[in-house]
Amino acid sequence: MLKDKDRIFTNIYGLNERTLSGAKSRGDWDGTKAIMEKGREQIIEDVKGSGLRGRGGAGFSTGMKWSFMPKEIGDRPHYLVINADEGEPGTCKDREILRNEPHKLIEGCLIASFAMQAHACYVYIRGEFYREGEALQRAVDEAYADGLIGKNACGSGWDFDFYIHMGAGAYICGEETALLESLEGKKGQPRLKPPFPANVGAWGCPTTVNNVESVAVVPEILRRGPEWFAALGRPNNTGSKLFNISGHVNNPCTVEEEMGVPLKEIIEKHAGGVTGGWDNLLAIIPGGASVPMLPKSICDTVLMDFDSLREVQSGLGTAAIMVMDKSTDPIMAITRLSRFYKHESCGQCTPCREGTGWMWRMMERMATGNARIDEIDLLEEVTRQVEGHTICALGDAAAWPIQGLIRHFRPRIEERIAEYQATTAHAAE
Ligand code: SF4
Repeated sequence: MLKDKDRIFTNIYGLNERTLSGAKSRGDWDGTKAIMEKGREQIIEDVKGSGLRGRGGAGFSTGMKWSFMPKEIGDRPHYLVINADEGEPGTCKDREILRNEPHKLIEGCLIASFAMQAHACYVYIRGEFYREGEALQRAVDEAYADGLIGKNACGSGWDFDFYIHMGAGAYICGEETALLESLEGKKGQPRLKPPFPANVGAWGCPTTVNNVESVAVVPEILRRGPEWFAALGRPNNTGSKLFNISGHVNNPCTVEEEMGVPLKEIIEKHAGGVTGGWDNLLAIIPGGASVPMLPKSICDTVLMDFDSLREVQSGLGTAAIMVMDKSTDPIMAITRLSRFYKHESCGQCTPCREGTGWMWRMMERMATGNARIDEIDLLEEVTRQVEGHTICALGDAAAWPIQGLIRHFRPRIEERIAEYQATTAHAAE
C-alpha cells in the first residue's frame, strides 16, 4: 500500500489551492532549473531508470520513447504533444490532473520538451473537458506570468511555449496519430505506421506523444531520484499510479496507489467494497473498456500491474476499474461496449469498419438469446479476424471485451440461447 510520503498527487481531489502558489507550497516547480541543468541525456536516463511505463494504456517505457527522438535538431522543429483526450470508458484520471494538479503537468511538459529539444508543447484535450481546459489555461497563464515557461523558462535559457488545443470529443482522437491529424485540423483518423511520430509527427516534424499522467509524474521522479520511483511496485511495474474505481462499489473514487496493489485490496480499502460485499462480485473490467473482463475467481488474487494482468489474459490499460456485481447482465454490458466501438470506428479499415458492426449485431442477439449455440464460436472467430488486422488498436479494443466474455461466461450465453429457444418453442406450440 502506498505511504503518504510517497504520494505524488497530493491535491488530486482539489481540496487545497489549485493556484500556482498552492502548487509551489506542495513542492511543484521546486528546483526545476537544477533538474534541467542535469542535461538532456541524464534526464532521459533517469526517466528510463525509474522504470516509468506510459500511463495512457500501452505501457511502453516513457524514457525509451523519449530516446527515439532525433538527437540533434535538423531542419524541422521538435514537438511534444500531450494526449489529454481520455475517452476510454471508465477512465477519469487525467481529468483530475488537469483540473486539480495542472502545474505538475506544465512542469513535466517543460522538462520533457527540454529533454527532447522541443520548444513547443501542445496539449490535446477532449472536447467534453471544457472546464478542465479552462483550469489548465489559468495555470498556463500563471506559469507564463511567473517566468516558469515562455522565454528563458525558469531561467534555464530554454524557450518554451505551451498551447492548449480542444478536441471535439471523438474517441479515436485518443489514438496518437489520429490525435496528430486532428491537431493539424484534419479528420481524426489514425495514420499508417511507420513512419512513427518520432520521425514524422505533428506537421511532419519529430514528435513525441505522451499521456498526461506519464508526464505529470516526471518532475517528482527527477526531484526524488529514479531509485525512489523504481523501489515502488514490482520490477518492470514500478511506481505509483492513479486508479479509477467505478460501478458497483460503495464509494467510487480516483486514488493513487502503488503498482501491484491487489485488486481486492484497492476496492475494499478505497472504494468501500463491492455493493453487497465481495461475495456479491460477478466480474471486473480492470483497465478501461477495451481490456477483457475478469471473473471473481481471478479478481480474488490478481495484482494491479501490467504483467500480472497480462498473465490472466487481461491488461492494466488505463487502470480504470469497472466493478460489476451479481445484478449485472454481463452479456448486455459487453453488448453496450460493442455498440460503443462500432460507433467510434473511424471506418478507415475494413476489418474494423465491418467487424465492429458484425460483432455488435451478433452481441445484440446473444444478449436476447436469439442466436444459435454454434454462433458463439463464429463470434469468437470474427473477433480473431479483427484483432491485429487493423491500422490502429481500436479493432483490438472492440474484440477483446467479447473474447473475455466468451472465455469466462460462455455457459451464461448458452443458457440465454437455450432459454430463448425454449420460450419461442413454447410460443409456437
Ligand atoms: Fe479506424 Fe478502426 Fe482502422 Fe482504427 S482500426 S484506423 S478506428 S477503422
